[in-house]
Amino acid sequence: MIYITMLFDKCSVFLRQNTRDVQTTLNILYILSELLTVGRGRRVGVFVSKGGTGILFQILITAIKELPPSEELMLQLHSLLAKVGPKDRKFGVKARLSGALNITVNLIKQNLQNTKLLLPCLQVLRVYSTNSVNAISLGKNGVVELMFKIVTPYSKKNTSLLKVALDALGALLKSKTNARRAVDGGHVPVLLALYQDWHRNDTRHRHMLIRKGLLVCLRNITNIKLGRKAFLDADGMRILYNSSTECLPVRTLDPLVNTSSLIMRKCFPKNRLPLPTIKSAFQYQLPHVPAVGPVAQLYSQPPGVDDVVDESDDNEETDADTENDTENDEDEKDQRSANDDIETDLNKLHPKKNPGRPFEELRVYERFFLELSEDFQGYNFESSKSASTTSSSFSSSSTSTRSTRPIIVPTAQALSPKLVPKSGSQGDCNSTKGQHTLPSPSVPTPTPPAPLTPLELDTIHLTKDQDKKEEARIPSPDTCTTLSSLARPPSQGQMIEQDLAHVLECVSLEEEGALNTGEGGGRGVKQEGSPVNATRHIQSPLLLGGIATRRVGGGGSNWGSDCGSEGAEDEGGEGAVLEVPDTALLLPLHDPDLYVEMVKGTHSVPQYAEVAYPDYFGHVAPTFREPLQERVYGVQRSKIFQDTERLIHPNDIVDKVVYDLDIPSCPVIEDDGESLKFNSQFESGNLRKAVQIRKYEYDLVLNSDINSNHYHQWFYFEVSGMRVGTTYRFNIINSEKSNSQFNYGMQVLMYSVQEAISGRPRWVRTGTDICYYKNHFARSSIAAGGQKGKSYYTMTFSTSFSHKDDVCYFAYHYPYTYSTLKMHLSKLEALRTPQIYLRQDVLCKTLGGNGCPLLTITAMPESNSNDHICQFRNRPLIFLSARVHPGETNASWVMKGTLEFLMSTSPLAASLREAYIFKIIPMLNPDGVVNGNHRCSLSGEDLNRQWQNPNPELHPTIYHTKSLLQYLAHIQRAPLVFCDYHGHSRKKNVFMYGCSVKETVWQSNISATSSDLQEDLGYRALPKILSQIAPAFSMASCSFVVERSKESTARVVVWREIGVQCSYTMESTLCGCDQGKYKGLQIGTRELEEMGAQFCVALLRLKRLTGLRNHQHLLDLESDIIGTQAKVVSSSPTTYVMEEDEPPFLEPIDYSAESNDEDAEPENEHAAEVQGNPDHLDQLSDSETNHRD
Ligand SMILES: [Zn+2]
Repeated sequence: MIYITMLFDKCSVFLRQNTRDVQTTLNILYILSELLTVGRGRRVGVFVSKGGTGILFQILITAIKELPPSEELMLQLHSLLAKVGPKDRKFGVKARLSGALNITVNLIKQNLQNTKLLLPCLQVLRVYSTNSVNAISLGKNGVVELMFKIVTPYSKKNTSLLKVALDALGALLKSKTNARRAVDGGHVPVLLALYQDWHRNDTRHRHMLIRKGLLVCLRNITNIKLGRKAFLDADGMRILYNSSTECLPVRTLDPLVNTSSLIMRKCFPKNRLPLPTIKSAFQYQLPHVPAVGPVAQLYSQPPGVDDVVDESDDNEETDADTENDTENDEDEKDQRSANDDIETDLNKLHPKKNPGRPFEELRVYERFFLELSEDFQGYNFESSKSASTTSSSFSSSSTSTRSTRPIIVPTAQALSPKLVPKSGSQGDCNSTKGQHTLPSPSVPTPTPPAPLTPLELDTIHLTKDQDKKEEARIPSPDTCTTLSSLARPPSQGQMIEQDLAHVLECVSLEEEGALNTGEGGGRGVKQEGSPVNATRHIQSPLLLGGIATRRVGGGGSNWGSDCGSEGAEDEGGEGAVLEVPDTALLLPLHDPDLYVEMVKGTHSVPQYAEVAYPDYFGHVAPTFREPLQERVYGVQRSKIFQDTERLIHPNDIVDKVVYDLDIPSCPVIEDDGESLKFNSQFESGNLRKAVQIRKYEYDLVLNSDINSNHYHQWFYFEVSGMRVGTTYRFNIINSEKSNSQFNYGMQVLMYSVQEAISGRPRWVRTGTDICYYKNHFARSSIAAGGQKGKSYYTMTFSTSFSHKDDVCYFAYHYPYTYSTLKMHLSKLEALRTPQIYLRQDVLCKTLGGNGCPLLTITAMPESNSNDHICQFRNRPLIFLSARVHPGETNASWVMKGTLEFLMSTSPLAASLREAYIFKIIPMLNPDGVVNGNHRCSLSGEDLNRQWQNPNPELHPTIYHTKSLLQYLAHIQRAPLVFCDYHGHSRKKNVFMYGCSVKETVWQSNISATSSDLQEDLGYRALPKILSQIAPAFSMASCSFVVERSKESTARVVVWREIGVQCSYTMESTLCGCDQGKYKGLQIGTRELEEMGAQFCVALLRLKRLTGLRNHQHLLDLESDIIGTQAKVVSSSPTTYVMEEDEPPFLEPIDYSAESNDEDAEPENEHAAEVQGNPDHLDQLSDSETNHRD
């Protein structure tokens, strides 16, 4: 290499000295050319670094002045430049500044017939054109027109020349001014015709690169609105659709099909979502509206404004002429956005305990910490050991504080002095909290031990009790007459129409027979559990058809006629009885009757009066494995072709609305037996509209979160009226996230009622042809946070049904309703033994009038001796919460696992209870869960962004939870560990986010002194233990960086203000695992519950590791699990991943048809596609951050 370098130096010297002597120059160029041809890459690099490019340009400038210029010299120079150009990042700039640009262009113009010289000149032009400033300048000089002259008309002469000219043209057309020039020159129809010529004549596919080059030109022209219009006017959709269909069978033509499909998506006319407004279909008037923010905007939106579409269809016209020389800007921008969010303010990074509210105000929360003052003086430990029955004040208080009769915690504004407990000093065993006032002693006595149900999944099996025909598991009708009053939320101003509709709906559904015989006095009242209710008299399975029928014409005006349409099938099994699967052994916390009871106390904004079967029957996790679904090659483009066919074959389109929440009291439109029936009018249901597109294809629209105009991803709805064996395609057309695990192996969940009553009550992963891609429904700038020209995304799946007259449910993830939680909590009481201290309080009421449960679990003291009471009171606290985001139902399943473990009889659980006091808020956002929201509460806000300054009226659960923690901080009892359970939609495995100053500093470039960085590594202990014992947990996905955008989340606020070093968000995948024992499998409720149990086991291990003598210094003892500090740094640095870490597919996934995805070099383009290396994956930036806790 040194030899080569010297040669280059010699050449340079010669070239500079002898530029007048053509022959000498040529000789040197020959030598150079040979040198550079061998071992090309590195030598060219050296040549460039030695300033070779500049010298070549100099020679060119000088040589062109000779008259006539030597053709051979021009040829050699351009050949060399063509070699050097692609390796020199500044090639385009150097060419422009030296004046070489015009020389080459003039040579091309003068030598159109001289292919020998033309080819290297075009090759050089191709490189010039990749610089955007050059492209504009070349366009002004008529080069676009010139290239069109070279590539038309169709001819197979000089294909290599043609290929280079097309590449250059494609590069030039990336400039919007050039694209417009091409449109104005009428070249779009010309390109399409040319493409058709090549498509027809290139029968042996030898010239695929030329065909691809033509498509790239079209792709770049259609980046501008005018280009898309010209493309549509020239019948481009049909031309590309037809040619692509013919290319499909030949796998080597995939690049053509993919580029065609990209162009078609882009040009597909933007549609309007079939909605009157994107605001939620349900109204809930807030007691007061925040002054600023999205909710304020929503409320201040003038009436009559169309928020579904606006003028924001096209985003690029305005900046067409503002192109600049921005060569390396893109890289820098990417770099910056990745680090932008890291907190760099050292003051903010250092936890500063914030006293928050004055202690006088916080003292009221003492009532939730009775265990810290309990002295058990009146409690008979001996008798409890023999399990004697004592109706105790403890048990009665525990039942009375269940959700049915909540304790109303006064807010700061309404602090009532009489609610402040009397002070008394009883702190005989704990002098450190002298200021802590203790309430009057209560005398807890546990309830007698409940029949124990061991929670060992291995030992239980599904028992199918065919004989057990359960009947009338229904509350008596009079209970439901009170339902509407019970269920009415306290939110005064509910619309009268809705009440009316509700009453109408309630009417008459109990007695299916009465419906069929006509209207009149026979109408009963529809109950909470109407499906259940209906099962009483109606046959199975025909009952299911019957249920579907009763929904028809839900307005109540035409029951008879509609029901008649299914009459033929209804005849069959009169009198048969629905078999409720007997799941008591498998689901110890489940009880259908109790569930219905719980629903009655649940307040929903739409005042739901139905119960979904899956929530009623329960879910028994299947024993078979559910692998991540392998993506079928080409699935996305085949879906896009089907979408395109809506334009090409409009006669196939049915376009019939079959379900619509926006039509008051009439969600189901019509029943002619040709359409599926939909329903989601039950707790956690979310479906706003269903439109039958083709015979077996439906577009589905999800409802926005209440008091919001977006946030949709979660879905849960019911389908009936299906045909067996037919494949149906469902498209959820208003998804918002820019990518989804549905592209990476995740399937939807389906629950079949027929399966359930045959003894298999369970959600199963279902669906084929699943994919997630940007669609042609326009998203208004109002809905896209001010961004213009955005689209929604389609999540599509296909499935078939195996039972006639079935009722099936589909969900985003395993549903877990608020009523389910209440049922589980009620059943947990039954697991209590004399050794378990369990208290259930209601922390507060939500805006919607639902209670927010708070659990306290620990072990009873061994005796009421001073020592035992002291040990009892001084156990460290563990504070857990979940489900602040309603769409993350997996968090609830993990929480269920935690709760069941904590209440179990295993020795581990007993040790754990003896080690800690657990304070648990299992559902921070009951209203969101009840109403089918994806992310927000009724206030239309993300509650996990309110922790810094929660409003007691708008965010009561957050306000009071934070107050509990502030109270604990005040009495020096801040929890040892705080963890908020979440679900993650874009990553696999289970992992944690924590807070570390040091790791945040490492990720940013801020300078910090070593004293700033003194930090215990204790925050890594719990995740590290979890990664060792919990198979779904992945340490590699954990992050301990503090981000600015997360400064108002539970994790950061509890860390910073309460001073809890071990403050975490635990994220569970919605999809599955790519490591550990469950690698390659989708996640199920069993794995999620196991995770919750393993979390407890990890806490026990944490305790054993540290001895817990003094948990403040726990971190010094970490070395045995995490090694030395230095080792941690080198072996497992924090991952700070902005985007999902998914491997690429064979099929390039382009989520965004609008992206001006830049293919690097024309010659690399093909290679990239063949290797299936989609650059597009890099573009999933949008405005989204990827980890959202
Ligand atoms: Zn979350």
